[in-house]
Amino acid sequence: MKSDYDMGMDTLCVHSGIGEDEFGAVIPPIYQTSTFKFKNSEHGEKLFKGEADGYIYTRMRNPTVEAMEKSVAELEGGAYALGCASGMAAVSTLFLAVLKAGDHIICSEAVYGPTTSILNNYFSNFNISATFVDSSDTEKVKAAIKPNTKMIFVETPGNPNLAVCDLQAIADLAHANGAKFAVDNTFMSPILQKPFLHGADYIIHSMTKFINGHADVVAGIIIVKNADEAPAFRKTLNHFGGVIDPFNSFLVHRGIKTLALRMERVCENSQKVAELLENHPKIAWVRYPTLKSDPGYAVHTKQAKGGGGVVAFELKGGLEAGKKLMDNIKLWQLAVSLGGVESLIQHPATMTHASMGKALREQAQITDGLVRISVGIENIEDLLKTLEDGLAHC
Ligand SMILES: *Cc1c(COP(=O)(O)O)cnc(C)c1O
Repeated sequence: MKSDYDMGMDTLCVHSGIGEDEFGAVIPPIYQTSTFKFKNSEHGEKLFKGEADGYIYTRMRNPTVEAMEKSVAELEGGAYALGCASGMAAVSTLFLAVLKAGDHIICSEAVYGPTTSILNNYFSNFNISATFVDSSDTEKVKAAIKPNTKMIFVETPGNPNLAVCDLQAIADLAHANGAKFAVDNTFMSPILQKPFLHGADYIIHSMTKFINGHADVVAGIIIVKNADEAPAFRKTLNHFGGVIDPFNSFLVHRGIKTLALRMERVCENSQKVAELLENHPKIAWVRYPTLKSDPGYAVHTKQAKGGGGVVAFELKGGLEAGKKLMDNIKLWQLAVSLGGVESLIQHPATMTHASMGKALREQAQITDGLVRISVGIENIEDLLKTLEDGLAHC
């Protein structure tokens, strides 16, 4: 959105990425086409040489995709965004664009399971090594730095145990050692946390989660802070091919319009759910970063505007009690993923983080009894009542 005003995030959600349309359409149309006609042979040649501006082929650029990319770039305050087929396509494209053979990457221990897996099982084949650390302790991140460390990659709050790390402190550490700093901001969305304001160079999102917000699209995005890095990223994404398609871009762009409103309700609901759990006699511990008792509270509230929609907890009865809860609770659906309008419940050790293996899970404090919930936008009384009734079975 071209504007002389410094607009609020809720306004940006509604208007960002919306340009002028030749027919006056209020919503960017879906250009559901794989390829674009050239005016003549000279025009085609110029487009390929980069001497003319225009569209060639949808893997390279597409107007519907670009509208959504502009919106997310604006929301995060970055120079440029690249829509990807999934959050994992965004993570893998980021690594492919930045890391070379011989490089080392430091990654939070508590990250999305497949992020651990691609570093350990695939990038390792290309002589790119990874160290996983408890990034909630900046000293441990510092101790892991090697002369060839090229990137530090974190999630905060981390998945699934909600460990919080200090973005600015880790950014300073990365930059003092010639490394880039990348943040997976999926759990917060740009409404709650803006990593570029705290020193990040790159941000990725699984837009499958809050940004789209309706559990009907798999999509991801990379946002780069500096415009001069954009062409190299675009080339990597174009050549490896993990691009988003026009229809999913349209759906994501539609979801963004209500992102600020949804996040407000999600934070309100989650806080009350976390407080109920904290005071419940059957609960051993709860993690939610805006609970005053949470070990991440001070750092989180310094760098983020809300706790988000994910709450992690363990029942005193451990895994067996957790299973009883998952099998008996009403309204909360037993499914992985998060960030949709509907509330979900799942078990990381046997579901989202099964591929990590028990040893790494234990190191990252992802206990076998940990239950992860994603709080939606339903009526809070309904959420609390069904949760209490579910806990009565444990
Ligand atoms: C879901 C998720 C991903 C992966 O995203 P997909 O869209 O499922 O590929 C990455 N990071 C976090 C924090 C996630 O929650």
